[in-house]
Amino acid sequence: MRRLIFLLSVFVFHSSVFAQVSNVVKQEAKKQTAYALELCKHLHENPELSFHEFETSARMAKELTDIGFEVSEKFAGNSVVGIYKNGDGPTIFLRTDMDALPIEENTGLPFASKKIVDLDGKQVAVMHACGHDIHMSTWTGTLRTLVALKEHWKGTLMVIAQQAEEYSGGAGQAIEAGLFSKFPTPDYALAYHINPELETGQIGLRGGPVFAGVKTVEITVYGKGGHGAYPQKCIDPIVISSRIVSDLQTIVSRELSPTEPAVVTVGSIHGGTRPNIIPDEVKMQLTLRYFSEETIEKVITSIKRISANAARTSGVPEDKLPFVDVFEVNTPPVLNDDDLSAAVAEFAGEIIGKSNIIETQPEMVGEDFGKYGLTKEDVPICLIWLGSTSPEEMQRLNAAGEAPFPLHSPQLNPDYENTIETGISVMAANVIGLMNK
Ligand SMILES: [Zn+2]
Ligand SMILES: [Zn+2]
Repeated sequence: MRRLIFLLSVFVFHSSVFAQVSNVVKQEAKKQTAYALELCKHLHENPELSFHEFETSARMAKELTDIGFEVSEKFAGNSVVGIYKNGDGPTIFLRTDMDALPIEENTGLPFASKKIVDLDGKQVAVMHACGHDIHMSTWTGTLRTLVALKEHWKGTLMVIAQQAEEYSGGAGQAIEAGLFSKFPTPDYALAYHINPELETGQIGLRGGPVFAGVKTVEITVYGKGGHGAYPQKCIDPIVISSRIVSDLQTIVSRELSPTEPAVVTVGSIHGGTRPNIIPDEVKMQLTLRYFSEETIEKVITSIKRISANAARTSGVPEDKLPFVDVFEVNTPPVLNDDDLSAAVAEFAGEIIGKSNIIETQPEMVGEDFGKYGLTKEDVPICLIWLGSTSPEEMQRLNAAGEAPFPLHSPQLNPDYENTIETGISVMAANVIGLMNK
């Protein structure tokens, strides 16, 4: 059923009062954008990989200290937590991520990254190709705006500059380290991610699933190796693996309901060294995508059954059946709270106009922000897409039959200034609206 998030009006903060505040928010956001843009260029030029966000986290800590936050550095790695108390009221959690990607930048921007780092003995180029530089500067600009306008709200800001989003490690580690017990438990948690498919001045929003859950699985198929000329004396794990890869395709197409989205992709398969040697084993790596726990449990059960039975068909003994390893580190789906998404639509609508709030479809990529909504504290979360391609560029692309460079592209080139300004004004409006509800 289509969720009618824009028709719900569950918050009682009077809209004419908020309309006045929204003008003040827009003015302050415009003022703070110049500062945030300079910060963004600096961060873009100096990207750091997941778990290596040393200078970036120190800079985020400095920004928070300058604004007046109590700051906890090195929380569960490189993450930085900040608290700003401004009287009695709700606690609102704002998250930014900090990590960049091992990608060689090809944008030609004056502040393009030229950074090369040594990663496990290999020289790799680093680039903010997922917009986390924009997330950090928008986050900083939002907090500066909120503190400048603190007579308009009461409550506590609890914020995190989070390490290792791209590895899906950062959110889980912060939660395990006691984020919601050592610091106040938030009443609401908000975040945003840039989206090149939306124009600047627009946001994408939906209640319910926004990003898919991600699980990684490794299958080791055991056989009996030997000479390629004597297959009758061997059990060939390459043949068994081929059967498994084919049969895995029937999980989504034949075993799940057509209305339940899921992905089973075998992304790597390795076995053997020479044409004339039948190997002892083959390893395969899979990525799985899903939106409900029930679905992922079914998918994993099917993977185990298909793997075991493909091996049995080839005469593999029971104690040598394939080993299916479901990795511990995983990313759950991002499930936006319906009521919070409705409130965000209302407050953001005052800033950018309701027609600029685009109801987006769920994406099969992952984001670890979902973890903050799945703890025992049951915090309502909302992740917003932030349009990052200028309307003029979108028009040019449409006319040429082209698409914007996607996230993780070496040519990702967002409209920095307007993305940041919209992000700051929308996020500040959301916080002030929620603080006053
Ligand atoms: Zn990314
Ligand atoms: Zn990202």
